[in-house]
Amino acid sequence: MPTNRRWGYASALALTLVAAIPLTAGGCAEEEAPEGAGVNGQPATDLDGDEALPGSADEHGATEPGAARPEQAADVDGDDLQAGVSVDPSAAATPAARACGTRTPTRAEAAHTEKRLDETRTLASAAPPAIITIPVAWHVINKGPGTGNGNVTEQMITDQMDVLNEAYAGDTGGAATKFRFELLSVQRVTNADWFNMGSGSLEEIEAKEALRVGGPETLNIYTANLLGGLLGWATFPDWYEDYPLDDGVVLLHSSLPGGSASPYNLGDTATHEVGHWLHLYHTFQDGCDKYNDYVKDTPQEGSPDFDCTESRDTCSAAGMDPIHNFMDYSDDDCLSEFTPGQAERMLTSWQTYRR
Ligand SMILES: [Zn+2]
Repeated sequence: MPTNRRWGYASALALTLVAAIPLTAGGCAEEEAPEGAGVNGQPATDLDGDEALPGSADEHGATEPGAARPEQAADVDGDDLQAGVSVDPSAAATPAARACGTRTPTRAEAAHTEKRLDETRTLASAAPPAIITIPVAWHVINKGPGTGNGNVTEQMITDQMDVLNEAYAGDTGGAATKFRFELLSVQRVTNADWFNMGSGSLEEIEAKEALRVGGPETLNIYTANLLGGLLGWATFPDWYEDYPLDDGVVLLHSSLPGGSASPYNLGDTATHEVGHWLHLYHTFQDGCDKYNDYVKDTPQEGSPDFDCTESRDTCSAAGMDPIHNFMDYSDDDCLSEFTPGQAERMLTSWQTYRR
């Protein structure tokens, strides 16, 4: 299964694909998942998760490269294909519920990743590394002055950095990871086209090609008005080698602390997306499956929790659903922790792919 997700894919197919196979991939969105649908409200078509074709969704609702999200599939004439979206931008301001479109790896991809991580674990068993401070290059994509136009304030960015540092230090509960974050730069760009950004859109590609800085160790965060009800999306570390310009995290500007996207305005969309950027999967990724999220100390979870449902237990395996885990789907004020296993996985992946 090729891992091509944007570069080349979008440019090669942009003018030929129609709405059934839009350009999106890897969107970590927060949108309402219709009951009975896949994780992202998508139909389950690929039962083993490793044979999905572009434009299909696996049983976990994860978008494959070029896969359609429901709101994009509605664009049957494809006339908005250049923009990669077909929705009214104003309608995407405040998502109704959290759902994430960060592309779930296929079983084959995940198996390859696990092999690489296990090799690192074998090599890196000596001295535990010190704290790793990740430089953050922030790109504020806006359409004019004022927070309503996406021109988030310095205070919002500072507060977001604090939320990240507290979460990854374990200050809100759960495990302390090795990661801290330091703001390297803030770049403000006024571009009305880029501002209304769809996942996998040409606007995203153009913006990242123009703005991204640093190597695999630099966390590039882009804030914009994300279409289709998305709160954000991220790339995984093992994608960097093939698609370095794609690497980074995209956030809905109003999801920052103090933003208007309540109840997703306490900054934990960034915590979640950075978790993906550091190689965490959703806690419900493979459902009640032995692989689940490839982290042993996160109990299996059959489906995302949207409502902070205490004592929720969707799988017969031991452990209640990890509803407070940053990689689940509830409101920001419900999410508070990573597990030691997640902290270890992020560190191992860093040592494998990002240092
Ligand atoms: Zn996610």
